[in-house]
Amino acid sequence: MAYQQNKKIECETHGTAFMTFICEHLALDPRQIWYSHAPAKDNQWPDSWCSICHQAYMSEGQWNDKNEEELKIRLFCHRCYESHRAQGKFVEIPEEEVSD
Ligand SMILES: [Zn+2]
Ligand SMILES: [Zn+2]
Repeated sequence: MAYQQNKKIECETHGTAFMTFICEHLALDPRQIWYSHAPAKDNQWPDSWCSICHQAYMSEGQWNDKNEEELKIRLFCHRCYESHRAQGKFVEIPEEEVSD
């Protein structure tokens, strides 16, 4: 997933807001486990995905060219992201350094 931190979008509900990305399953049904890397100071709304998508993630140990196409991403404003995430269970997964 491309790093899109600090890009702005216009949300119909919230107006100008930061861009965030979540998988389509979380967008449709946020009441489930949310997998993502830990929020950081410069990335408070890390890209998140569901347990279905996490199986694709685990097959590579990261998102890359081989599994990224299995991930159907929805663009959310950060306030929509927060209100959705508040309904789910947030699980942090360690960011692994994967060498080629
Ligand atoms: Zn998903
Ligand atoms: Zn919004």
